[in-house]
Amino acid sequence: MTKERIFLSVGHASGYEERYIQEALASHWITTGGAHVVAFESALANYLGNNVHVTALNTGTAGIHLGLILLGVQAGDVVLCQSMTFSASANPILYQRAIPVFIDSEKETWNLCPIALEQAIVSEIAKGKKPKAIIAVHLYGVPYQIDAVRAVADAYQIPILEDSAEALGSAYKGQKCGTFGDLAIVSFNGNKIITTSGGGAIVSHSKALKEKALFYATQSRDEAPHYQHSEIGYNYRMSNICAGIGRGQMEVLDDHVAMRRKMNDFYVDLFCDIAEVSVFTVPNNTYFANYWLSAILVEPNPVKRIDREALRLAFEAANIECRPLWKPMHLQPIFQDYAFYGSNIAETLFEKGLCLPSGSHLTDKERARISEVAQEFFKK
Ligand SMILES: *Cc1c(COP(=O)(O)O)cnc(C)c1O
Repeated sequence: MTKERIFLSVGHASGYEERYIQEALASHWITTGGAHVVAFESALANYLGNNVHVTALNTGTAGIHLGLILLGVQAGDVVLCQSMTFSASANPILYQRAIPVFIDSEKETWNLCPIALEQAIVSEIAKGKKPKAIIAVHLYGVPYQIDAVRAVADAYQIPILEDSAEALGSAYKGQKCGTFGDLAIVSFNGNKIITTSGGGAIVSHSKALKEKALFYATQSRDEAPHYQHSEIGYNYRMSNICAGIGRGQMEVLDDHVAMRRKMNDFYVDLFCDIAEVSVFTVPNNTYFANYWLSAILVEPNPVKRIDREALRLAFEAANIECRPLWKPMHLQPIFQDYAFYGSNIAETLFEKGLCLPSGSHLTDKERARISEVAQEFFKK
Protein backbone atom coordinates (compact mmCIF):
# COMPACT_ATOMS: atom_id res chain seq x y z
CA MET A 1 0.00 0.00 0.00
CA THR A 2 1.45 3.39 -0.92
CA LYS A 3 1.60 5.88 1.90
CA GLU A 4 -0.29 9.15 1.74
CA ARG A 5 1.65 11.90 0.01
CA ILE A 6 3.50 14.43 2.13
CA PHE A 7 3.45 17.73 0.29
CA LEU A 8 6.01 20.52 0.26
CA SER A 9 3.61 23.22 1.44
CA VAL A 10 -0.17 23.36 1.32
CA GLY A 11 -2.93 25.50 2.83
CA HIS A 12 -3.78 24.99 6.49
CA ALA A 13 -7.29 25.97 7.56
CA SER A 14 -7.67 27.22 11.13
CA GLY A 15 -11.40 26.67 11.55
CA TYR A 16 -11.83 30.41 12.17
CA GLU A 17 -12.46 31.15 8.49
CA GLU A 18 -16.02 29.83 8.24
CA ARG A 19 -17.60 32.42 10.48
CA TYR A 20 -16.20 35.25 8.37
CA ILE A 21 -17.25 33.59 5.12
CA GLN A 22 -20.75 33.11 6.52
CA GLU A 23 -20.85 36.79 7.47
CA ALA A 24 -19.89 37.80 3.96
CA LEU A 25 -22.56 35.56 2.44
CA ALA A 26 -25.20 36.76 4.92
CA SER A 27 -24.43 40.38 4.05
CA HIS A 28 -24.67 39.56 0.30
CA TRP A 29 -21.35 41.39 -0.21
CA ILE A 30 -20.02 38.62 -2.42
CA THR A 31 -17.78 40.75 -4.58
CA THR A 32 -14.52 42.65 -4.47
CA GLY A 33 -13.88 45.10 -1.64
CA GLY A 34 -16.23 45.20 1.35
CA ALA A 35 -16.09 45.06 5.14
CA HIS A 36 -13.83 42.01 5.40
CA VAL A 37 -11.34 43.51 2.96
CA VAL A 38 -11.10 46.72 4.99
CA ALA A 39 -10.79 44.78 8.28
CA PHE A 40 -8.19 42.42 6.77
CA GLU A 41 -6.14 45.39 5.57
CA SER A 42 -6.11 46.97 9.00
CA ALA A 43 -5.26 43.65 10.70
CA LEU A 44 -2.30 43.33 8.35
CA ALA A 45 -1.18 46.93 8.84
CA ASN A 46 -1.32 46.41 12.63
CA TYR A 47 0.64 43.20 12.36
CA LEU A 48 3.36 44.76 10.21
CA GLY A 49 3.61 47.91 12.34
CA ASN A 50 5.70 50.94 11.32
CA ASN A 51 2.58 52.88 10.30
CA VAL A 52 2.26 51.08 6.99
CA HIS A 53 -0.78 51.24 4.73
CA VAL A 54 -2.11 48.09 3.08
CA THR A 55 -4.10 47.60 -0.12
CA ALA A 56 -5.46 44.04 -0.47
CA LEU A 57 -5.29 42.54 -3.97
CA ASN A 58 -6.23 39.31 -5.69
CA THR A 59 -2.61 38.09 -6.02
CA GLY A 60 0.91 38.95 -4.93
CA THR A 61 1.87 39.11 -8.60
CA ALA A 62 -0.67 41.92 -9.06
CA GLY A 63 1.13 43.66 -6.18
CA ILE A 64 4.47 43.50 -7.99
CA HIS A 65 2.83 44.82 -11.15
CA LEU A 66 1.12 47.73 -9.38
CA GLY A 67 4.31 48.36 -7.39
CA LEU A 68 6.26 48.87 -10.59
CA ILE A 69 3.54 51.16 -11.95
CA LEU A 70 3.53 53.20 -8.73
CA LEU A 71 7.31 53.54 -8.98
CA GLY A 72 6.88 54.94 -12.48
CA VAL A 73 8.34 52.00 -14.42
CA GLN A 74 7.55 52.35 -18.09
CA ALA A 75 8.42 50.70 -21.40
CA GLY A 76 12.19 50.60 -21.93
CA ASP A 77 13.12 51.26 -18.28
CA VAL A 78 15.67 49.01 -16.58
CA VAL A 79 14.51 47.15 -13.46
CA LEU A 80 17.03 45.24 -11.33
CA CYS A 81 15.74 41.95 -9.96
CA GLN A 82 17.11 39.18 -7.78
CA SER A 83 17.72 36.21 -10.08
CA MET A 84 17.16 33.54 -7.43
CA THR A 85 13.39 33.82 -7.04
CA PHE A 86 10.03 32.66 -8.33
CA SER A 87 9.13 33.97 -11.80
CA ALA A 88 6.30 36.07 -10.35
CA SER A 89 8.93 38.51 -9.03
CA ALA A 90 10.14 39.21 -12.56
CA ASN A 91 7.22 38.66 -14.95
CA PRO A 92 5.56 42.01 -14.17
CA ILE A 93 8.70 43.78 -15.43
CA LEU A 94 7.78 42.40 -18.85
CA TYR A 95 4.08 43.28 -18.37
CA GLN A 96 5.36 46.88 -18.29
CA ARG A 97 7.58 46.24 -21.34
CA ALA A 98 10.49 47.26 -19.15
CA ILE A 99 13.90 45.53 -19.22
CA PRO A 100 14.80 43.09 -16.43
CA VAL A 101 18.45 42.93 -15.37
CA PHE A 102 19.21 40.03 -13.04
CA ILE A 103 21.47 40.06 -10.00
CA ASP A 104 23.24 37.14 -8.34
CA SER A 105 22.79 36.02 -4.73
CA GLU A 106 25.25 36.15 -1.86
CA LYS A 107 25.93 32.97 0.15
CA GLU A 108 24.65 34.11 3.54
CA THR A 109 20.97 34.77 2.84
CA TRP A 110 20.82 33.48 -0.76
CA ASN A 111 19.31 36.87 -1.63
CA LEU A 112 20.41 39.97 -3.56
CA CYS A 113 24.20 40.35 -3.48
CA PRO A 114 24.90 44.03 -2.61
CA ILE A 115 28.22 43.96 -4.51
CA ALA A 116 26.72 42.58 -7.74
CA LEU A 117 23.84 45.01 -7.26
CA GLU A 118 26.18 47.99 -7.21
CA GLN A 119 28.14 46.68 -10.21
CA ALA A 120 24.88 46.40 -12.15
CA ILE A 121 23.83 49.94 -11.24
CA VAL A 122 27.20 51.45 -12.20
CA SER A 123 27.31 49.50 -15.46
CA GLU A 124 23.71 50.27 -16.47
CA ILE A 125 24.23 53.97 -15.71
CA ALA A 126 27.39 53.89 -17.86
CA LYS A 127 25.31 52.38 -20.67
CA GLY A 128 22.96 55.35 -20.38
CA LYS A 129 20.09 54.03 -18.29
CA LYS A 130 19.79 54.51 -14.56
CA PRO A 131 17.69 51.61 -13.21
CA LYS A 132 14.18 52.62 -12.16
CA ALA A 133 13.68 50.10 -9.35
CA ILE A 134 15.25 47.21 -7.42
CA ILE A 135 13.20 44.07 -6.70
CA ALA A 136 14.60 42.43 -3.56
CA VAL A 137 13.25 39.10 -2.30
CA HIS A 138 13.27 37.37 1.11
CA LEU A 139 13.80 33.87 -0.24
CA TYR A 140 11.96 31.15 1.70
CA GLY A 141 11.30 33.72 4.41
CA VAL A 142 14.95 34.55 5.14
CA PRO A 143 15.43 38.35 5.06
CA TYR A 144 17.88 39.75 2.52
CA GLN A 145 20.83 41.85 3.76
CA ILE A 146 18.51 44.74 4.55
CA ASP A 147 21.10 47.36 5.57
CA ALA A 148 23.61 46.63 2.81
CA VAL A 149 20.99 46.58 0.05
CA ARG A 150 19.40 49.77 1.38
CA ALA A 151 22.80 51.51 1.47
CA VAL A 152 23.37 50.75 -2.23
CA ALA A 153 19.83 51.77 -3.19
CA ASP A 154 20.12 55.06 -1.30
CA ALA A 155 23.57 55.85 -2.70
CA TYR A 156 22.09 55.85 -6.20
CA GLN A 157 18.58 56.94 -5.15
CA ILE A 158 16.81 53.95 -6.63
CA PRO A 159 13.63 52.74 -4.89
CA ILE A 160 13.28 49.18 -3.55
CA LEU A 161 10.24 47.05 -4.30
CA GLU A 162 10.39 44.50 -1.49
CA ASP A 163 9.02 41.10 -2.51
CA SER A 164 7.93 39.76 0.86
CA ALA A 165 5.62 37.14 -0.67
CA GLU A 166 7.36 34.37 1.26
CA ALA A 167 8.25 36.35 4.38
CA LEU A 168 5.09 37.36 6.25
CA GLY A 169 6.11 36.99 9.91
CA SER A 170 9.85 37.30 9.24
CA ALA A 171 11.80 40.23 10.68
CA TYR A 172 15.17 41.95 10.72
CA LYS A 173 16.39 43.73 13.86
CA GLY A 174 12.88 43.35 15.23
CA GLN A 175 11.21 45.08 12.27
CA LYS A 176 8.79 43.03 10.19
CA CYS A 177 9.56 42.12 6.58
CA GLY A 178 7.17 43.91 4.27
CA THR A 179 8.02 47.29 5.81
CA PHE A 180 11.54 47.85 4.44
CA GLY A 181 10.90 48.65 0.80
CA ASP A 182 9.75 51.95 -0.65
CA LEU A 183 6.89 49.63 -1.54
CA ALA A 184 6.42 45.99 -0.57
CA ILE A 185 4.17 43.10 -1.46
CA VAL A 186 2.97 40.03 0.38
CA SER A 187 1.19 36.95 -0.99
CA PHE A 188 -1.68 34.84 0.33
CA ASN A 189 -1.46 32.17 -2.33
CA GLY A 190 -2.57 28.69 -1.23
CA ASN A 191 0.94 27.47 -0.43
CA LYS A 192 2.16 30.52 1.51
CA ILE A 193 2.45 31.00 5.27
CA ILE A 194 -1.21 32.07 5.45
CA THR A 195 -3.68 32.03 2.59
CA THR A 196 -6.84 33.71 1.37
CA SER A 197 -7.10 30.88 -1.19
CA GLY A 198 -5.33 33.28 -3.54
CA GLY A 199 -4.49 36.87 -2.78
CA GLY A 200 -1.87 39.47 -2.07
CA ALA A 201 -1.36 42.98 -0.85
CA ILE A 202 0.74 46.01 -1.56
CA VAL A 203 2.27 47.71 1.47
CA SER A 204 3.14 51.41 1.34
CA HIS A 205 4.23 54.20 3.64
CA SER A 206 1.59 56.78 2.75
CA LYS A 207 -2.16 56.99 2.50
CA ALA A 208 -1.79 58.57 -0.94
CA LEU A 209 0.09 55.52 -2.27
CA LYS A 210 -2.42 53.16 -0.68
CA GLU A 211 -5.21 55.00 -2.46
CA LYS A 212 -3.38 55.17 -5.76
CA ALA A 213 -2.88 51.38 -5.59
CA LEU A 214 -6.60 50.98 -4.90
CA PHE A 215 -7.40 53.25 -7.87
CA TYR A 216 -5.32 51.15 -10.30
CA ALA A 217 -6.60 47.88 -8.80
CA THR A 218 -10.22 48.86 -9.41
CA GLN A 219 -10.04 49.88 -13.09
CA SER A 220 -8.76 53.44 -12.62
CA ARG A 221 -12.15 55.11 -12.48
CA ASP A 222 -12.04 58.89 -12.49
CA GLU A 223 -14.55 60.76 -10.38
CA ALA A 224 -17.66 60.97 -12.50
CA PRO A 225 -21.19 59.53 -12.41
CA HIS A 226 -20.43 57.55 -15.58
CA TYR A 227 -17.41 55.32 -16.24
CA GLN A 228 -14.59 57.72 -17.07
CA HIS A 229 -10.94 56.68 -17.43
CA SER A 230 -7.80 58.70 -18.01
CA GLU A 231 -5.32 55.99 -16.96
CA ILE A 232 -5.05 52.26 -17.68
CA GLY A 233 -6.86 50.26 -15.03
CA TYR A 234 -6.60 46.72 -13.66
CA ASN A 235 -9.01 44.32 -11.99
CA TYR A 236 -6.74 43.40 -9.09
CA ARG A 237 -8.87 43.94 -5.97
CA MET A 238 -9.32 41.23 -3.33
CA SER A 239 -12.79 39.73 -2.90
CA ASN A 240 -14.73 39.98 0.35
CA ILE A 241 -14.96 36.17 0.62
CA CYS A 242 -11.18 35.80 0.26
CA ALA A 243 -10.62 38.54 2.83
CA GLY A 244 -12.92 36.60 5.19
CA ILE A 245 -10.62 33.60 4.87
CA GLY A 246 -7.68 35.95 5.42
CA ARG A 247 -9.19 37.27 8.67
CA GLY A 248 -9.49 33.71 9.98
CA GLN A 249 -5.92 33.00 8.93
CA MET A 250 -4.57 36.15 10.63
CA GLU A 251 -5.65 34.60 13.94
CA VAL A 252 -3.17 31.74 13.43
CA LEU A 253 -0.38 33.54 11.57
CA ASP A 254 2.04 33.46 14.50
CA ASP A 255 1.18 29.79 15.16
CA HIS A 256 1.95 29.00 11.52
CA VAL A 257 5.27 30.83 11.80
CA ALA A 258 6.11 28.87 14.98
CA MET A 259 5.23 25.56 13.31
CA ARG A 260 7.28 26.31 10.18
CA ARG A 261 10.21 27.26 12.40
CA LYS A 262 9.76 23.98 14.27
CA MET A 263 10.06 22.16 10.92
CA ASN A 264 13.34 23.98 10.31
CA ASP A 265 14.62 22.92 13.77
CA PHE A 266 13.59 19.38 12.93
CA TYR A 267 15.76 19.44 9.79
CA VAL A 268 18.70 21.01 11.64
CA ASP A 269 18.54 18.06 14.09
CA LEU A 270 17.98 15.49 11.38
CA PHE A 271 21.01 16.52 9.33
CA CYS A 272 23.38 17.65 12.09
CA ASP A 273 25.66 14.61 11.71
CA ILE A 274 25.47 14.35 7.93
CA ALA A 275 28.55 15.90 6.36
CA GLU A 276 27.04 16.33 2.89
CA VAL A 277 24.05 18.39 4.05
CA SER A 278 23.76 21.94 5.31
CA VAL A 279 20.39 23.36 6.35
CA PHE A 280 19.58 26.91 5.22
CA THR A 281 19.33 29.07 8.36
CA VAL A 282 19.74 32.75 9.18
CA PRO A 283 23.32 34.11 9.39
CA ASN A 284 22.87 35.57 12.90
CA ASN A 285 20.19 36.57 15.39
CA THR A 286 19.47 39.99 13.90
CA TYR A 287 17.54 37.93 11.35
CA PHE A 288 14.24 36.22 12.18
CA ALA A 289 12.94 33.86 9.49
CA ASN A 290 9.46 32.38 9.20
CA TYR A 291 11.14 29.50 7.29
CA TRP A 292 8.24 29.36 4.89
CA LEU A 293 10.15 26.56 3.19
CA SER A 294 13.02 24.67 4.77
CA ALA A 295 15.83 24.12 2.30
CA ILE A 296 19.12 22.24 2.32
CA LEU A 297 22.25 22.11 0.20
CA VAL A 298 23.54 18.66 -0.69
CA GLU A 299 27.26 18.45 -1.43
CA PRO A 300 27.67 15.74 -4.09
CA ASN A 301 29.61 12.65 -3.03
CA PRO A 302 30.14 10.55 -6.17
CA VAL A 303 31.70 7.63 -4.27
CA LYS A 304 28.59 7.24 -2.13
CA ARG A 305 26.35 8.22 -5.05
CA ILE A 306 24.93 11.08 -3.01
CA ASP A 307 23.61 14.22 -4.63
CA ARG A 308 20.60 16.48 -4.58
CA GLU A 309 18.68 14.62 -7.26
CA ALA A 310 19.32 11.17 -5.77
CA LEU A 311 17.98 12.41 -2.43
CA ARG A 312 14.94 13.96 -4.10
CA LEU A 313 14.18 10.67 -5.85
CA ALA A 314 14.57 8.73 -2.59
CA PHE A 315 11.97 11.00 -0.97
CA GLU A 316 9.75 10.76 -4.06
CA ALA A 317 9.88 6.93 -3.90
CA ALA A 318 8.44 7.24 -0.38
CA ASN A 319 5.74 9.61 -1.71
CA ILE A 320 7.31 12.65 -0.06
CA GLU A 321 7.37 15.78 -2.20
CA CYS A 322 10.63 17.71 -2.32
CA ARG A 323 11.66 20.24 -4.96
CA PRO A 324 14.85 21.86 -6.20
CA LEU A 325 15.22 25.54 -5.28
CA TRP A 326 13.81 28.19 -7.60
CA LYS A 327 15.68 28.00 -10.89
CA PRO A 328 17.39 31.38 -11.26
CA MET A 329 15.69 33.76 -13.66
CA HIS A 330 18.80 34.37 -15.78
CA LEU A 331 18.82 30.63 -16.58
CA GLN A 332 15.17 30.59 -17.63
CA PRO A 333 14.39 30.38 -21.36
CA ILE A 334 11.95 33.32 -21.10
CA PHE A 335 14.65 35.63 -19.68
CA GLN A 336 17.75 34.34 -21.48
CA ASP A 337 18.26 37.53 -23.51
CA TYR A 338 18.59 39.82 -20.48
CA ALA A 339 21.71 40.89 -18.63
CA PHE A 340 22.96 39.20 -15.47
CA TYR A 341 25.50 40.56 -12.97
CA GLY A 342 27.41 38.33 -10.57
CA SER A 343 29.09 34.95 -10.67
CA ASN A 344 27.68 31.49 -10.14
CA ILE A 345 26.26 31.66 -6.62
CA ALA A 346 22.58 31.37 -7.61
CA GLU A 347 23.43 28.71 -10.17
CA THR A 348 25.32 26.61 -7.59
CA LEU A 349 22.50 26.99 -5.08
CA PHE A 350 20.11 25.72 -7.74
CA GLU A 351 22.33 22.69 -8.46
CA LYS A 352 22.72 21.66 -4.83
CA GLY A 353 19.55 22.94 -3.20
CA LEU A 354 16.43 21.06 -2.19
CA CYS A 355 13.24 22.31 -0.53
CA LEU A 356 11.74 19.89 1.97
CA PRO A 357 8.20 19.45 3.33
CA SER A 358 7.60 22.53 5.47
CA GLY A 359 3.85 22.79 6.08
CA SER A 360 2.54 24.07 9.40
CA HIS A 361 0.22 21.06 9.75
CA LEU A 362 2.82 18.25 9.53
CA THR A 363 2.49 15.59 12.23
CA ASP A 364 5.03 13.65 14.29
CA LYS A 365 4.19 10.59 12.22
CA GLU A 366 4.98 12.45 9.00
CA ARG A 367 8.21 13.81 10.45
CA ALA A 368 9.14 10.23 11.38
CA ARG A 369 8.57 9.13 7.76
CA ILE A 370 10.79 11.96 6.48
CA SER A 371 13.45 11.12 9.05
CA GLU A 372 13.43 7.43 8.12
CA VAL A 373 13.99 8.12 4.40
CA ALA A 374 16.83 10.56 5.11
CA GLN A 375 18.58 8.23 7.55
CA GLU A 376 18.30 5.28 5.17
CA PHE A 377 19.63 7.38 2.26
CA PHE A 378 22.72 8.67 4.06
CA LYS A 379 23.52 5.33 5.73
CA LYS A 380 25.08 3.92 2.54
C1 LIG B 1 4.33 33.45 -4.37
C2 LIG B 1 5.30 34.46 -4.81
C3 LIG B 1 4.91 35.58 -5.57
C4 LIG B 1 3.56 35.75 -6.17
O1 LIG B 1 2.50 35.70 -5.34
P1 LIG B 1 1.08 35.21 -5.89
O2 LIG B 1 0.16 35.60 -4.79
O3 LIG B 1 1.16 33.72 -6.06
O4 LIG B 1 0.78 35.90 -7.16
C5 LIG B 1 5.86 36.54 -5.85
N1 LIG B 1 7.13 36.42 -5.45
C6 LIG B 1 7.56 35.35 -4.75
C7 LIG B 1 8.98 35.29 -4.33
C8 LIG B 1 6.67 34.33 -4.43
O5 LIG B 1 7.09 33.26 -3.76
